[in-house]
Amino acid sequence: MTALATARDLFADLTGQSPDGIWSAPGRVNLIGEHTDYNEGFVLPFAIQHRTYAAASLRDDDRIRVASTFATEPVEVSLSALDDLFPSEGEPAVPEWSAYVLGVAWALRALHPDAALRGADIAIASDVPVGAGLSSSAAIEGSVSSALNELWGFDLDAVTLAQVGRRAENEAVGAPTGIMDQMASMLGRSDAATFLDCRTLETRSVPTGFTDEHLEVLVIDTQVSHAHSTGGYRERRASCELGAELLGIRSLRDAGVDDLRRAAEVMDEVTYRRVRHIITENQRVLDTVAALTENGPRAIGELLVASHASMRDDFEISVPELDTAVESALAAGAIGARMTGGGFGGAAIALIDHAAVAAVSDAVRQAFTNAGFAAPHIFTVTPSDGPHRDE
Ligand code: ADP
Ligand code: MG
Repeated sequence: MTALATARDLFADLTGQSPDGIWSAPGRVNLIGEHTDYNEGFVLPFAIQHRTYAAASLRDDDRIRVASTFATEPVEVSLSALDDLFPSEGEPAVPEWSAYVLGVAWALRALHPDAALRGADIAIASDVPVGAGLSSSAAIEGSVSSALNELWGFDLDAVTLAQVGRRAENEAVGAPTGIMDQMASMLGRSDAATFLDCRTLETRSVPTGFTDEHLEVLVIDTQVSHAHSTGGYRERRASCELGAELLGIRSLRDAGVDDLRRAAEVMDEVTYRRVRHIITENQRVLDTVAALTENGPRAIGELLVASHASMRDDFEISVPELDTAVESALAAGAIGARMTGGGFGGAAIALIDHAAVAAVSDAVRQAFTNAGFAAPHIFTVTPSDGPHRDE
């Protein structure tokens, strides 16, 4: 059964009725630009065909009732109680999955604090893999914000809804994430990636040309997740802040490759390599946009490979499984490949010819077997449209 049909059924189980509508929003994958977001730099993600669906109706009272295939029990609160629940210090007082949904309702409502709003019944189902670095969180936020935006008659634009999703994630769930995921999901366009300047929030839709060139992006989900990823993330952020301070700039966004020599002189070797990753990665994002625009997608392979090497050697956030995924995909003929996401596990992507999907997938699986790693989960993703109403 499709996730759309599952959402419809779950809604019927919850209410005994059909929903007023079903809205969906996509997950996303990051093509290039890793750890640049919190350095006020550049990223180039694209929305994928996997989506989260929110079947929803307004209610006659002020209750919000949410159900998901993730949970056996629905969660119910009144709209007026949301301000007591959020922002939440530490663990939210409601089940974590429901904080994504209720947090969106809370953050949306805060934009129109005086509006007399009716409550809603909402049922969620998704085909976005969770925890594979494909942002199932932005997908759930986007589906719910799109539903309530329309049901409550708010008419907010995609960027505002992205900010609502981020606020829900930061302040209701308590996950300190940037805005890349929500922007990538909300601004998705078929066969295009979203260039995002994380300082100005300026965006540009960049055609990928993957379809015309018969290319596919393979996701190789290692299903490895390392316990020290949170600590590692915090440490990398601190190194970047230290590097900027030693360079006398507000953030590493303000440094370019011309500043690398000076950077090497004013900081220790490890901080220097962290800084070098950010500075060169920002440049690679700009180069990828230029290459896609001027020479097409086959011209970005080397940039993807260089990005991976930089994360492996300079930023040191790769793991053997990710390196194996990248190396075996390249050996089997991938145009480019890199780990994607925050690192310490998660997924790699490989840009390959459509005709090579089976051969590259087999080669990667074989390499994992040879190395004694658990089998990866492998599938293709396609640059896809942002949120819409499905029915
Ligand atoms: P990801 O990389 O997939 O975004 P996150 O940890 O940011 O990983 O978000 C995953 C969390 O989002 C899940 O643990 C769950 O709490 C919530 N979530 C995602 N999809 C759903 C869903 N369909 N129903 C309920 N909760 C969901
Ligand atoms: Mg997420």
